[in-house]
Amino acid sequence: MVVRGIDLRSDTVTLPTDAMRAAMAGAPVGDDQFGEDPSVNALQDEVAALLGKEAALWLPSGTMANQVALRTLTQPGDEVVVGTETHAVWHEAGASARNNGVQLREIGEGGLFDAGQLAEAIKPRGHLLFPPTTLVEVENTHNRAGGVVWDAATTAAVCAVARDRDVASYLDGARLWNAAAADGRPEADLAAPFDLVGVALSKGLGAPAGSLLAGTREVVGRAGRQRRMLGGAMRQVGILAAAGSHAVTHHRARLADDHANARLVGEALAGLPGVRLDLDTLRTNIVVFHLAADAPDAATVVARAKEQGVLVLAFAARTVRAVTHLDVSRADCATAAEVLCAAVASR
Ligand SMILES: *Cc1c(COP(=O)(O)O)cnc(C)c1O
Repeated sequence: MVVRGIDLRSDTVTLPTDAMRAAMAGAPVGDDQFGEDPSVNALQDEVAALLGKEAALWLPSGTMANQVALRTLTQPGDEVVVGTETHAVWHEAGASARNNGVQLREIGEGGLFDAGQLAEAIKPRGHLLFPPTTLVEVENTHNRAGGVVWDAATTAAVCAVARDRDVASYLDGARLWNAAAADGRPEADLAAPFDLVGVALSKGLGAPAGSLLAGTREVVGRAGRQRRMLGGAMRQVGILAAAGSHAVTHHRARLADDHANARLVGEALAGLPGVRLDLDTLRTNIVVFHLAADAPDAATVVARAKEQGVLVLAFAARTVRAVTHLDVSRADCATAAEVLCAAVASR
């Protein structure tokens, strides 16, 4: 019997707050396809400034941001180098192949790779047999690897190799806000080495929808055309942009609370026999843990937790994900930790 749900399935389950709804209701709007939506323009300017880029473009979803980035920076037949278990490989329904005709090549481990691994992976242009590598994509924080944060020196070195070899660079920073909070650095520092950067408003920031792509005016202009082609160009979308501006202004500083709450859950689980969880990489709001062969499997843990009112996701047969966010308190997370530990411990 579910008494009260503590929903840790994703940071996308957050609901708009009353203050956010008020900001949306009062938002000045216009036709964004004429560039006349003041709320969209304001959000694009704010996010471009935060990311240290010339311009930014609003998009309805992070998947569309990733797909528009590919369309902007690659040609069909190209190869795109990504980390292991990257969003584009696992969570975009095959869109990179279907929409953009690119092939994704995973390198490194745990969602991370270094400049040397990229240099080895890049295939030259103009070869009779090879698909040309034209783009490298970094996911920071990395979702499936457990909210892992990239080291800023590593991303700088990766992008330097890319530039040197005439390969474009894209940062899937759906949770770049979390990386910045964990690293104690401005988002602009983490975005600086990349040609194009995507960020999401609908994850830990708690807005109902929206992502942005940021880069030079030239690249963002081309992305705007690709957004139109994919059907993502909208009209009085300032109602959603206002939610995004509210989230960027009011919900960024509190991400550290989500990170502390995730630690609480992770530290409780990491001590259990049958659980594999790397506390060194648990620095943000995502707890991914693996279950040994003699522990219950992911579906069992998810079902048992649900009976106790705690919702988490089975990420693979023996992998579970729990994500903290602004709609769960520290007390909720303490309860969830107890429930998950009990679900793992009983046979
Ligand atoms: C959530 C997410 C996206 C975008 O997903 P949407 O559900 O389309 O908004 C992109 N990249 C990463 C790493 C994500 O976690």
